[in-house]
Amino acid sequence: MGSQARRLLTMTTIAHDRPDVVLDGVVRITAANPGVMTGPGTNTYLVGSGEVAVIDPGPEDADHVEAVLSAVEGTLRWILVTHTHPDHAPGAERLAALSGAERLGFASRDGFVADRTLEHGSRLSGPGYTIEAVHTPGHASNHLCYALDRDPPADGKRARVLFSGDHVMEGSTVVISPPDGDMVDYLTSLRMVRDLVPRIDVIAPGHGQLIHDPAAAVDRYLDHRAERERTVLSALTRSGTATVDDLLAEVYADVDEARHPIARRSLWAHLRALAATGQAWGDDPDDPDTAWRTASTS
Ligand SMILES: [Zn+2]
Repeated sequence: MGSQARRLLTMTTIAHDRPDVVLDGVVRITAANPGVMTGPGTNTYLVGSGEVAVIDPGPEDADHVEAVLSAVEGTLRWILVTHTHPDHAPGAERLAALSGAERLGFASRDGFVADRTLEHGSRLSGPGYTIEAVHTPGHASNHLCYALDRDPPADGKRARVLFSGDHVMEGSTVVISPPDGDMVDYLTSLRMVRDLVPRIDVIAPGHGQLIHDPAAAVDRYLDHRAERERTVLSALTRSGTATVDDLLAEVYADVDEARHPIARRSLWAHLRALAATGQAWGDDPDDPDTAWRTASTS
């Protein structure tokens, strides 16, 4: 099945602004912002009861914030954002104003105001659960994933959940857009998540359905990136000197043209990663339109 068909299928199976219990103690409400970048829409998650944490309040959308507030069982205590992109964080302001909950994230940025900042290893404890922040730069430099441990374990089984934001999505690869996005950081963060101890049993992504085979899913991402990097390098080697636009059609021949403006950003990110390892040179790596060449042509 092509990615387009898979995306449509996913869209028909996630309803918007309706609470859905996806795991014991975890409710998902998907915002009504489907699109090329957001798949079926942004997933907002509610964790726990009594004292509730919301992860990724989503876009500025009054109906979505209302749906989230209505699903809170008890007091909304924390609003956590994985990162400050416009489909994940802006809803925090309205949600905080209506609930008095504390806004938490890696830093205040892009209009998001953190009442308290979190770093790698920061922990929050609610009744029967603990949430730990995992710093995963790459898609965004301020990206945090959140690992959830529940006590007692659901069904007698200890299942560790990772809320992955845009670090790992279901049904799509992730866009890496420099300069805030960084391919070298992204690959490092992917490996870090795969190798977390205790290991992750299920990923609850920012877009799409739960991922029940986290290590395999992350390995597929790593393989995909390695293959794309090889394609970039061989296309550049053949060209001698080339810009992102010269390489785009060849390197992303397998990707729908509607996504090429986005793929353009990831291609630039790949070239910058090749430069970081001495395999390519760019006249000005900070310029998306600069000329690139390989070791053999420089
Ligand atoms: Zn994002």
